[in-house]
Amino acid sequence: MKVNYGSMVPISTVDWHGKVSIVLFLRGCPYRCPYCQNHALLFEHNMVDASVLEAEIKKSRPFVSSVVFSGGEPLMQKDAVIHLARYAKKIGLLVGIHTNGHYPHVMAELIKERLVEKFFIDVKAPLDDAESYAKAIGCMDFTDIHIDPGVAMGKVCQSIDLVLGNDIGLELRTTIIRDFMGSADDVRNIACSINELTARQAVTYVLQQGFAANSLLGSLRDKKPLSRDELLGLADVAHEFLDNIYVRTKEKGNEKVNFESI
Ligand code: SF4
Repeated sequence: MKVNYGSMVPISTVDWHGKVSIVLFLRGCPYRCPYCQNHALLFEHNMVDASVLEAEIKKSRPFVSSVVFSGGEPLMQKDAVIHLARYAKKIGLLVGIHTNGHYPHVMAELIKERLVEKFFIDVKAPLDDAESYAKAIGCMDFTDIHIDPGVAMGKVCQSIDLVLGNDIGLELRTTIIRDFMGSADDVRNIACSINELTARQAVTYVLQQGFAANSLLGSLRDKKPLSRDELLGLADVAHEFLDNIYVRTKEKGNEKVNFESI
């Protein structure tokens, strides 16, 4: 079994809130998000044998409780992720997956085999606005993306539905980038669309402080990250539609927003 492998963090406390994880970054992604910071993973190949990654997971095993697959888009490599998730389960680790939501059929296979405890799904733009989704995944700025944004949006909705219907952990998150995706209107529309899709089930929604300095699209690179206070202001906007909201910043990590104190 070969894996198109990017890199690894052997011990992380930030990629699955409340857990210590080894994080494996796999290469490849069908999207071209203009703010992508991991774009080195989008274009090159580095095929390694899965046994190399199994050895890394085993090395981290005494110090972690979980494996997180990230990327790139890990679910592009269905067979590799299923293989490595089976290995993680065999040695007693939990499995979490960061995904852009484009592969609900792969998620369904993982869920059927009970290989995943939590999915972290990007909601890059309102889930009922194909034009915004097109902008967020790079259709307006790059020619090497061959995805209909309406179809992409539909797949994200399908992925969220699938997780909600299977009693598996779920985090929805939006990366906030100044002057790109992060105005009060953007966040209001995203939160409203999540509310409509999930019927306000107790989904966890995270506003992530995006860093644009290494963006795929050069013109975003000078955008300053939003401050924690700005993100808290956006959380307040989202609270009209959602209850369980976090902000994630470099300075304070993951914080559940207490709306009494804003
Ligand atoms: S930010 Fe977008 S382009 Fe980059 S890895 Fe994630 S989904 Fe793919």
